[in-house]
Amino acid sequence: MEHQLPKLPYALDALEPYISKETLEYHYGKHHKTYVDKLNAALKETDLTKATLEEIIQKSSGGLFNNAAQVWNHTFYWNCLAPKAGGSPTHLAADIIKKSFGSFDKFKEEFSAAAANNFGSGWTWVVKKNDGTVAIENTSNAGTPIKDKRWPVLTLDVWEHAYYIDYRNARPKYIDVFWNLVNWDFVNKNLG
Ligand code: MN
Repeated sequence: MEHQLPKLPYALDALEPYISKETLEYHYGKHHKTYVDKLNAALKETDLTKATLEEIIQKSSGGLFNNAAQVWNHTFYWNCLAPKAGGSPTHLAADIIKKSFGSFDKFKEEFSAAAANNFGSGWTWVVKKNDGTVAIENTSNAGTPIKDKRWPVLTLDVWEHAYYIDYRNARPKYIDVFWNLVNWDFVNKNLG
């Protein structure tokens, strides 16, 4: 079973002016696609050709893990963004963020700081905890909570390829505009 590059849930220019069409042409059309192609090539040497993407992530290491995890992480990330989104969280997300961090402003501050301070390439996540609250965590490179069967509800890709075309080295500017794009409907689906 060949893994496919999933369709982007919106047009390439839909996240403008915050994330440009050119960024998505490279980030989705080239980076994400290359992870899919490399995953399919690496799988041919393994007995995991029939495994789900999540199973591959949990059972693999090295290059196979890196490409499988990056395929999963990027698909999840595209769904965390949406045009005409952002602003304050709604429904369950609003309640759980308040319960976990005291307020949305405090959550935003902590998530933004974690993303800005995630050294080198990586991802900043909001992950479900067993007690019904959520926590912020950073991973490096292709690292993903899925590896330990923990379920994220939101992520931000902080690899330089996610923002270099639009913001050059200024990761904090990219983190700022993220708050205009957060797809709270998707976060609510993941919390439910
Ligand atoms: Mn990326």
